[in-house]
Amino acid sequence: MLNAETKLFAILGYPVKHSFSPQMQNKWFEKEKLNCIYLAFEPSPEYLERAIESLKILGFQGVNVTIPHKVEVMKYVDFIDEAAEKIGSVNTIAFKNGKLYGYNTDHLGFSQDLAAKKVNLKNKNVLVIGAGGGARAIAHALVSSGAKDVYIANRTLEKAEKLASIFKIKVFDISRAGELLPEIDLLVNTSACGMKKTDILPFKVDKVKSSLVVYDLIYNKMTPFTRLAGDKGLKIFTGDGMLIQQGACGFKIWTGKYPDIEVAEKLLKKFIG
Ligand code: NAP
Repeated sequence: MLNAETKLFAILGYPVKHSFSPQMQNKWFEKEKLNCIYLAFEPSPEYLERAIESLKILGFQGVNVTIPHKVEVMKYVDFIDEAAEKIGSVNTIAFKNGKLYGYNTDHLGFSQDLAAKKVNLKNKNVLVIGAGGGARAIAHALVSSGAKDVYIANRTLEKAEKLASIFKIKVFDISRAGELLPEIDLLVNTSACGMKKTDILPFKVDKVKSSLVVYDLIYNKMTPFTRLAGDKGLKIFTGDGMLIQQGACGFKIWTGKYPDIEVAEKLLKKFIG
């Protein structure tokens, strides 16, 4: 029952109408019997600062921030968590006593999802494809989890080099990335390769370890990476787990409670259709 004391939460994105977060967070509030509501707002980039200021004035307790605001919003928060600083973006904000605390829960979402799936990153060799915002969160998660050799390969080499220098990982030529696979334990696609039907695997594949695990951050489509896993009979995980776990970490920051993951998994299946 909503009333005058209902606590307010939201997601800010541009666009945001496709977002699964309102359904997921509201389901968790309902499940935990919390008098809270989670809405979606679509401020264009020039209104982001004013949108944040308005939410503060209106007494919002927390927001998620998504594309394209994750980097820009760092200017408008009072404190930034160490991981968010390193990753270079904020996706979760908590409003406390008039101050804004910025976090990045994408890296936690990824490592918690792998932990839930019993994939241990310690001493593993990992190849990351892509060097955008998602890749930065994944690189941080891999380095923090004690992975052994982490390689990054990206269509635009300079972006991979920049990311490699920040996280002290190795760069590999994307067109030859298949040559690395015989020694790789985990292949992570953080790139948008697969969002278009015409996208193809950016490297040739010959031999792979039979124990190779493929993780594709894209969760609602067949991609060249999911097809590769299918062709080679490899274990494959898609980004739905990460999406849910990053939201769960936000929920925990705001409410102190860790929500029911299974409820969100069922909801996401229906949402994707
Ligand atoms: P981004 O910052 O725009 O970066 C996109 C990356 O994809 C760049 O490295 C780009 O290479 C590469 N790329 C794009 N098209 C490609 C193609 N056809 N072949 C090879 N590489 C290509 O985007 P992002 O925020 O990192 O997101 C990337 C993907 O991850 C999106 O599909 C997003 O939905 C997904 N994601 C999922 C989650 C989750 O929770 N499941 C979280 C974050 C992101 P260049 O540098 O050469 O342009």
